[in-house]
Amino acid sequence: MSEQPADPVLVVGTVAYDTVKTPFDEADHALGGSATYFASAASLFTDVHVVSIVGGDFDLDELDYLRKRGTDLSGIQVEPDEETFHWSGEYDYDMNTRTTHATDLNVLTNFAPLVPINAETAPLCFLANIDPNLQLDVLDQLRNQRLVAADTMNFWIENTPQSLDEVLARVDTLIINDEEAREIGDTPDLIESMRRVQGLGPEIVVCKKGEHGALLANRSNWFAAPAFLHADLHDPTGAGDAFAGGFMGTLAAVDEITDTTLRRAVVYGTAAASIAIEDFGPRALAKATLDEVEDRARELAKFSRFPPIK
Ligand code: AMP
Repeated sequence: MSEQPADPVLVVGTVAYDTVKTPFDEADHALGGSATYFASAASLFTDVHVVSIVGGDFDLDELDYLRKRGTDLSGIQVEPDEETFHWSGEYDYDMNTRTTHATDLNVLTNFAPLVPINAETAPLCFLANIDPNLQLDVLDQLRNQRLVAADTMNFWIENTPQSLDEVLARVDTLIINDEEAREIGDTPDLIESMRRVQGLGPEIVVCKKGEHGALLANRSNWFAAPAFLHADLHDPTGAGDAFAGGFMGTLAAVDEITDTTLRRAVVYGTAAASIAIEDFGPRALAKATLDEVEDRARELAKFSRFPPIK
């Protein structure tokens, strides 16, 4: 990649305890959360500032692997008398279909995100999946970013649509999955739904399709990347956030956001996501190196090499 030092990235999202069940295995109250997964991937590329909140039950030592990579955790508030955000979900055999059993907001209920002064000017910011009202609070605290991206999910699309519209009007990029794009765009046609999302604000829309790869739309072009074909799937939770971490981490290292750098970011994001799903929680990303992500990115490029077309 680029020789220049990468810019720091700010992420705001959840640090959670997740209870996850697949047809093959399960984990109870294990480390998770949108900001955790994002930081676990992005910290392989650059310095990350995390803004989040946890309760007194949270063991901050679980984030030591991030601290060792230089991640700034000073923006994680601790509320000793409250409980950490807890999400519980279950996957079907295809590991693509997920049912949410519980979203216990707990400490998130009264969360007022505060971006530390040293992170306000981080050139890139990712508003990970969290209440859009909190994403708006963070947008009000940002200064001079060159790229602001956001994620969301059905929970917020259905419960806080107006706030979500305001977020969309203020971000450059939206990174979502295909169901969410269809729900926001109010159409089953994925390409049309991405166009409609662009019409709401973000010039760049990235749509993740699980085992079917990812699609990117920018102002002038479309790009489709396959998923990494040889991932050893154990728990798909956090794949989207890990994708976003690889995507933003890649863009943190380039001078200019162009069609080419966006395509490279999708490939690196896909490679990071393929590592995330190989173990429960962010364990696989915690052990990974940037070299491993790059090896997978190279293999991905081979998977989709077309022969010359007449
Ligand atoms: P993903 O699989 O990429 O959608 O991310 C899953 C992560 O998102 C889990 O670790 C959850 O803790 C977190 N999560 C689930 N529901 C929510 C929600 N409503 N708001 C914020 N984070 C959530």
